[in-house]
Amino acid sequence: MKDFYNETIETLEETLIQNGFKAFNARQLFEWVYRHKTIDIDSMTNLSKKLKQFFQTYFYFSSIAKITKQVSHDQTTKYLFKLSDNQAVETVLMHHEYGKSLCVTTQLGCNIGCSFCASGLQKKIRNLTIAEMMHQVLMVEALENIRISNVVLMGTGEPFDNFEATMGFIDNINSPYGLAIGARHITVSTSGIAPKIKAFADFNKQVNLAISLHAPNDVLRTQLMKINARYSLDELLESVRYYIEKTNRRVTFEYLLLEGINDEMSHANALSDLIRGVNCYVNLIRYNTVRELPYKGSSESRAMAFYMQLLKRGIQATLRKEKGSDIDAACGQLRAKNN
Ligand code: SAH
Ligand code: SF4
Repeated sequence: MKDFYNETIETLEETLIQNGFKAFNARQLFEWVYRHKTIDIDSMTNLSKKLKQFFQTYFYFSSIAKITKQVSHDQTTKYLFKLSDNQAVETVLMHHEYGKSLCVTTQLGCNIGCSFCASGLQKKIRNLTIAEMMHQVLMVEALENIRISNVVLMGTGEPFDNFEATMGFIDNINSPYGLAIGARHITVSTSGIAPKIKAFADFNKQVNLAISLHAPNDVLRTQLMKINARYSLDELLESVRYYIEKTNRRVTFEYLLLEGINDEMSHANALSDLIRGVNCYVNLIRYNTVRELPYKGSSESRAMAFYMQLLKRGIQATLRKEKGSDIDAACGQLRAKNN
């Protein structure tokens, strides 16, 4: 039997058509499960008996369980969920003026191994399935009795190292028959796997793309992010230009501010030269401390100076306010520790 939550509209249609049903039956099933939130097949009134019978022999509904919930001073909420193989994943809910935003985990651990990141301290154990990503959204919606309006794929893991499931997940949360979250309310963040950025461009969704840049030259970037040894800044920017050409969308460059490492005026200048002419804006993030790691976030005044320098040099930028750092729920602090 197959887990319904691992299906996309396309794969479900295929299965149904192969078994003598119609494509619209897939849409009906999706609507029951994701719009009406029912998994009781008997209560799905517009399905034929034959389809219900087929469904019950072919599909089952998986689930995940809540282990803990922590709420930070700013109401940011971190959940720890248990998967069917007893592994744990973290999901973070943030309350914004514009809505409820969920930070979703895509892998257990991460193999990219950025030197500053807590998530990367744990080697990748495995990819999450579409179902396990869907459950993070569905569970938080059910537990909080809310609708998630925005999804960021910025939890543990490198989404483009789990490309297929990530694309399926995006399809499902975006589909009008699924969770109907607007593409522009979905953001996927990558450490810069250039060929996958191109593949993502070809996927041609109006989803936001964020790229973790963090350094304006190859030497420093390779020190911080060893993925840069594989895909240099040149290659990365070439793939970004391809993405912009193909989708006509603006990209976000994320730039962590690490005190004394990448936050000098010379770095701001090099950064602005590097990305000048690219349809982008820079999201500056003050680094959140990770106990085991030696890095420190830039002071407020250095962060502000860096930000002002980018603006002065004609680069659009924002200086992001962190949420949830007191409960290790902020960016790069996720590690699925159960304490
Ligand atoms: N693997 C993807 C997405 C998850 S990380 C990526 O790297 O883009 C989400 C963002 O948090 C990335 O920009 C990452 O560089 C950043 N990050 C990692 N550790 C951090 C920390 N300690 N403080 C602030 N941001 C951090
Ligand atoms: Fe992985 Fe992203 Fe952390 Fe790098 S920053 S180790 S890619 S989760």
